[in-house]
Amino acid sequence: MTFLIAVIGAGVVGTLIARELIKYEKDVAIFDEKSGPGRMVSKANSGIIHGGYDDTPNTLRAKLSYKGNKMYDELSKDLSFDLKRCGSHVVAFEEEDLEYINSLVEKAIKNGVEEYQIIKGETLKKMEPKVNEDIIASFYCPIAGIVNPWMVAHQAARNVEMNGGKLYFNKKLIDVEMNDKRYLLKFEDDFEFEADIVINAAGLYADEIAKLFGDEVPKIYPVKGEYYLTKPEFKYVNSIIFPIPNKISKGCLVVPVIDGGFLIGPNAQEIRDKKDFSNTNEGLSEIREKGLKLVPEINYRQDSVKTFAGLRPETAEKDFYIGKGEGNVVHVSGIRSPGLTAAPAIAQYVVDEIIKKEMNTKFLKRQDFNPKVDSFRVFNEEDIDLWNERIENDPEAGELVCFCNKVSKKDIKAAIKKGAKTLEDIKFLTGASFGECQGSYCSSKIVKILAEELNKKPEDIVMNEKGTWIIDSEVRL
Ligand SMILES: Cc1cc2nc3c(=O)[nH]c(=O)nc-3n(C[C@H](O)[C@H](O)[C@H](O)COP(=O)(O)OP(=O)(O)OC[C@H]3O[C@@H](n4cnc5c(N)ncnc54)[C@H](O)[C@@H]3O)c2cc1C
Repeated sequence: MTFLIAVIGAGVVGTLIARELIKYEKDVAIFDEKSGPGRMVSKANSGIIHGGYDDTPNTLRAKLSYKGNKMYDELSKDLSFDLKRCGSHVVAFEEEDLEYINSLVEKAIKNGVEEYQIIKGETLKKMEPKVNEDIIASFYCPIAGIVNPWMVAHQAARNVEMNGGKLYFNKKLIDVEMNDKRYLLKFEDDFEFEADIVINAAGLYADEIAKLFGDEVPKIYPVKGEYYLTKPEFKYVNSIIFPIPNKISKGCLVVPVIDGGFLIGPNAQEIRDKKDFSNTNEGLSEIREKGLKLVPEINYRQDSVKTFAGLRPETAEKDFYIGKGEGNVVHVSGIRSPGLTAAPAIAQYVVDEIIKKEMNTKFLKRQDFNPKVDSFRVFNEEDIDLWNERIENDPEAGELVCFCNKVSKKDIKAAIKKGAKTLEDIKFLTGASFGECQGSYCSSKIVKILAEELNKKPEDIVMNEKGTWIIDSEVRL
């Protein structure tokens, strides 16, 4: 028997679950109300593949995050995204902080994590010359790393599509009916889809989606985290620098970004509105201060290119909630940090533990599953000879559209060939407009290329979803 499977949510969690499912079944479809994969919680986070040492032992988080960390090497090769195992330090300033460092050792042992070391002052100085001189020791975890989080979701979604799955964007699930033991999923704009099995991986909204199926899962409340992003040319640290955390988050940290630059943040504010991505003066000044405590030479005025905020889907239990609902629906909810790290292990858990065991679904592995997808890498990191060669073969490889991040017309056209349709698609997939000028130079040029390649009028090109227009009347670009 074959099953029609629908995954609601194209974040890192939903796309990796769909990829795990397509190893068995061809009829897997992903739905998301946004215009592309990884555009909600999976977009605005620290991008860290955590070491798994600090999750409360015996929680699902602890069970899945170290396992997820380990799965990232193979995943990054298969899905051709960059992974840098740059390591992380949790730093102690005072003697009393050493107690916390010791408690991390205990937790690491309980969580089965062996990859850690206690580093004392001078050695840390050599590893990280720019951190605060007052730091006396650190808990160092060499397997912690960084990725571009939305790229994980994007590449997983492409891999699902390559293997016969379907991707539906701009599709907001609003209602569910049960017909003949099948779910009738009702989306905005009168779109409907029937499915035998549904996976609810709707991030911040997973509790509300569970209600549509008549199920209750722990209530999700958003915890906002704000960030500063710095220009690529400032080199502060080589690895991730964590402070001693507070009760609600890992604290404001300094973390390298895989495409260059650093993130400083996030703070943690419990808020009510799941749509409140605003930055606040108080929040940003808290981050500035906490970032300076870790790395005193950060010059926010000169170094930062933008600020932004992400929302963590928290629950009172502070653990992932992954469970079967009344029928053949799996709720994957409360996927707070380290959900990015745990995502590949969450995907395996959903299929092996819930769908195969609890639902007693008979799945056979497909022989024709192809785990690999090609890279979306932008060519600006290539050495100059290679770049010259590319330009000889195709002059558009030398026609820079984004000067900040050195993205050429050829790169943008390649992204469009691989499915990019909006300005945001181009931004996330090529890095164009992510640089110092934040798109003030290149946006109009990208709109023109999108319009030409997609055979549309420039005024029909949108930022991301329907209605997010850029130009409000006819233009000639
Ligand atoms: C500030 C911050 C820092 C973090 N740092 C880290 C970190 O460094 N490392 C780490 O491991 N984790 C980190 N996390 C956690 C991590 O980002 C999340 O656990 C992970 O991204 C959750 O992914 P997801 O797929 O569950 O959710 P999402 O990415 O939000 O995906 C859910 C999708 O469902 C869609 N959706 C919702 N409702 C509907 C509907 N009705 N119809 C259709 N689609 C719908 C949404 O559009 C969305 O795309 C951080 C989180 C935050 C906020």
